[in-house]
Amino acid sequence: MMPPYPIYCYTKGCVRPAVYKIAARWSDGITEELKTYALSCPECLATWFRGSRSKQAACRRARGEILEPPGIYDMERGKRDRVLRRRTDLEAQFV
Ligand SMILES: [Zn+2]
Repeated sequence: MMPPYPIYCYTKGCVRPAVYKIAARWSDGITEELKTYALSCPECLATWFRGSRSKQAACRRARGEILEPPGIYDMERGKRDRVLRRRTDLEAQFV
């Protein structure tokens, strides 16, 4: 199903639609969520992925707080975060 309007890549000036979501699992021990770092087109993916990883590494965490290294997920409109497919194959290319 096509979305009613496209979601664009987060890169300034990039006019391509976003097809990947870069996100990390965050938890404070009670609640858990997928923290979004960026939405990206395939061309800008490597830049966003590396940037998100270093941002995550520099992020200060409170006691008991967990923030996993960001991963790449296929963006699928209308699907809940927990069912998004993780693209470890792409992540491996960029590390
Ligand atoms: Zn882009």
